[in-house]
Amino acid sequence: MNAHAPISASDVAPPNAIAQRLTSGFRDLDLVNRLAGARRAIAGRLVLTTSFGLEDQAITHAILSQNLAIDIVTLDTGRLFPQTYALWSETEARYGRRIRAFYPERLSVEAFVAQHGIDGFRASIAARQACCAVRKVEPLGRALDGASGWITGVRAEQSSERAITPYASVDAARGLIKLNPLLDWTREHVAAFVHEHGVPYNTLHDEGFLSIGCAPCTRAVKPGEPERAGRWWWEQEDKKECGLHSRPRPIPETVVAS
Ligand code: SF4
Repeated sequence: MNAHAPISASDVAPPNAIAQRLTSGFRDLDLVNRLAGARRAIAGRLVLTTSFGLEDQAITHAILSQNLAIDIVTLDTGRLFPQTYALWSETEARYGRRIRAFYPERLSVEAFVAQHGIDGFRASIAARQACCAVRKVEPLGRALDGASGWITGVRAEQSSERAITPYASVDAARGLIKLNPLLDWTREHVAAFVHEHGVPYNTLHDEGFLSIGCAPCTRAVKPGEPERAGRWWWEQEDKKECGLHSRPRPIPETVVAS
C-alpha cells in the first residue's frame, strides 16, 4: 500500500457521496492517509472506539503519532481482562493522551445481574445479547452521540459477515459514516505494523488470544481456528457479534465535508 495522493476535501456533499469517495480512495492509501483523508472529508466529530486489540492499537498509533483530530474512546464493560486495563494505562502513558471511557448504566447492570446472575450471559444467546446490550451497545450510543464518523478496527478476513463490509458506508441508524480503514489488512499486516512502530499491545495476543473482548467471554484459539472462535465459544452459530456493528437511530441530513 502506498502513501498516495490524499483524498481531497470537498464542499458540502451528501453522506453517501462522501462514503463512496472514501471507499474508492482508500484502496491506494496507507493507514495514516486513510485516516487523514477521512478527517478532511467528514466535518464534525470523528471517533475511534478502541477495545485495545491489535487493530485498534495500530489505528490509535496512526492517529496519535500524526496528531489527527480524532477522538479515541473505549467502552469499559467492567468485565475486561487485567491485561487490557494494563494496556490501556500503558497506551495513555506512551502517547501522553487520556482515552475517554464510557461505562454501562448502573441501574441496567444491577437489573441484569439480579435477573440473570453475574455470569447469566452463558444461559442463552438472548441473555448474552442482553448483557452485551447493557454493557456495550448502550454505552456505544453515548460514545457516538453527535459524531459524524465512527472508525473501527474491523477487517474483512475476521468473519464471513465482515468480509462483505465496505471501507466506508452510511450508518443510517446511528446517523454517521462508518469507516473501516484496516478492512483489507491481514492479521499479519497489522502485527507487522505494530511491531515496526513499537506500538504497545495486549500480552494476551502472545498466549493465543486473537480477538479480545470481555474476560469471561474470550478464550485463546487453537491453531487453525477462525480468529473469532474464541469469542462466546459456547455458542454454535456463525455470526457471533456483540451488536456494536449492527443497529439504531435517525441520520441527520448533513454529515458534510468541510
Ligand atoms: S462480552 Fe460477555 S461479559 Fe461482555 S458484555 Fe457481552 S456477554 Fe457481557
